[in-house]
Amino acid sequence: MRILLVEDEPKVARAVADGLAGEHYEVTVATTGDGGHQHLTTEDFDLAILDLNLPGRDGLEILTSARNRGILIPVLLLTARGSVEDRVRGLENGADDYLVKPFAFSELLARVKALLRRGRPEQLLKLHARDLELDLVSGEAIRGGQALDLTLREKELLEYLLRHQGQAVSREMLAQDVWKMSGRITPLDNVINVHVSRLRKKVDRDFPVKLIHTVRGVGFVLAEEAP
Ligand code: CA
Repeated sequence: MRILLVEDEPKVARAVADGLAGEHYEVTVATTGDGGHQHLTTEDFDLAILDLNLPGRDGLEILTSARNRGILIPVLLLTARGSVEDRVRGLENGADDYLVKPFAFSELLARVKALLRRGRPEQLLKLHARDLELDLVSGEAIRGGQALDLTLREKELLEYLLRHQGQAVSREMLAQDVWKMSGRITPLDNVINVHVSRLRKKVDRDFPVKLIHTVRGVGFVLAEEAP
């Protein structure tokens, strides 16, 4: 499997390229937007990972140009934290998924594998569990046909739980991947508990089937049945 990585931060580019090579992917790295565009439009890849902010042509321009040329390989965008508009524009312009920096390599690998498995279906921009749906473009969460009024953080939390459906998620994972805190900071546990508990109320209170469960001694899991 050939992957194109367009990333201008040398450290990130090296870490991702080495990690993917270690998983037996063949990786081509471009460190400028123009270089990335050149590779993408003249060579064959199975997947592209595009950083959004690049010198020269940015990730969105590369993406738009590739899609206009009928290049339909899955594209994973790397975005900066907080740039919700960029993310939405990316998804609207043909990206298949996105990952917010900084990210753990394991998270990137999971996304890459999922995208390669799924190919490029029309709609993988919605995450589901039973009658719960989260639209990654609009940010709208719906359960049983009713819109849920979630804060931005609750949406991020719900997205993470949905992406790890059926898998126990620890507070440490949430601190690192959702709150983007590196290193263990004890007080964050309480903050996480409060947010999960609020999210849980909104998602589960009015429904007989509960989706978010506590996993004793570990953290939480979003699953259709209690663990
Ligand atoms: Ca960049």
